[in-house]
Amino acid sequence: MRWKEQLLTLTPYQPGKSIESVKKQFQLEQIIKLASNENPFGCSNMVLSALQSNLLNMPIYPDGYASSMRDELAAFLQVEPEKLIFGNGSDNLIQIISRALLHPGASTVMATPTFSQYRHNAVIEGAVIKEVPLLNGEHDLHGMLDAMDEKTNVVWLCSPNNPTGTYIPETALLAFLEKVPSSCLVVLDEAYYEYVVADDYYDAISLTSKYPNLIVLRTFSKIYGLASLRVGYGVANPAIIKALEPGREPFNVNSFGQAAALAAIEDQEFVEECKKKNRTGLQQYYDFCHQHGLEYFPSQTNFILIDFKIDGDTVFQYLLERGYIVRSGKALGFPTSVRITVGTTEQNEGLLRILDEFLVNQREEQLFKK
Ligand SMILES: *Cc1c(COP(=O)(O)O)cnc(C)c1O
Repeated sequence: MRWKEQLLTLTPYQPGKSIESVKKQFQLEQIIKLASNENPFGCSNMVLSALQSNLLNMPIYPDGYASSMRDELAAFLQVEPEKLIFGNGSDNLIQIISRALLHPGASTVMATPTFSQYRHNAVIEGAVIKEVPLLNGEHDLHGMLDAMDEKTNVVWLCSPNNPTGTYIPETALLAFLEKVPSSCLVVLDEAYYEYVVADDYYDAISLTSKYPNLIVLRTFSKIYGLASLRVGYGVANPAIIKALEPGREPFNVNSFGQAAALAAIEDQEFVEECKKKNRTGLQQYYDFCHQHGLEYFPSQTNFILIDFKIDGDTVFQYLLERGYIVRSGKALGFPTSVRITVGTTEQNEGLLRILDEFLVNQREEQLFKK
């Protein structure tokens, strides 16, 4: 077989551990998964009835243009329906964009550490990859501009950034957009947009009218609680959407995903409620970090990256054996940190109790060594 050489350098995406596998391995009754930034409050009740009434459509192909969901979302965002493209999760949109613009003759610029799929897809397309280290957990936009060359077709911005939870302030983003050549597509991944509370955050959707080379990616997987149904969307100038569309599989978003997303948009009360509860939950982690002198990045998302100054896998393993699945920072570019999804008040309390115990043990061990 003559595989693309670059494919052989990649490993498949390593997802957070599954609840079932951990239950079995450690003989635990209850497992709390706070590893993949899913919504601990589930999804809107309106989604459930939308799914039920869709059950009989099972044998029928989905609407390839996603007309109903498209119209609903266009009205909600106050954009023309032609400014939207849908993906089987926003992961799928990252793939479509890469397929359309990246190749061995092109380069692409991204931060590091950031969401792994930008790099992964760029490797598959054989593009030259330029990774610009974060500065104190934030995008180095000047560094990213410097890294661009005449072959740069795509620049990836993740704001708020996964795994740090930090965001790009409005003035910094605007200055960046002014300087990026119009031949380069700026991808602004806003998977955590609905969680943002910062005052100096921008309105990305309205920026797509001013900057015809900007595409904004959002998803129903995070605050909307529909990760299993795989629905993401992109918003951009109609010319960008038109160019990307042929690279999209015809039926990439299934009927259940479409019906669920449509219903979910209608329940903004649920979204607001989750956003509020998330801030309360984040505060539990902030308080804990202050109490124990732990460093973390202030987060605009539903996760927090905490630096324990020891091997992140050790913390991860300790929590895992006691029924809490989180992500070790090791695979995320922060080897001494752990990324924790903000759960319900009770889930956070439970996890923090175990972390507290872990830190006490650590301290005792160190005293013993002396
Ligand atoms: C979770 C996540 C995604 C993927 O979302 P899907 O719509 O489920 O594919 C994309 N970008 C970032 C930054 C994420 O954290």
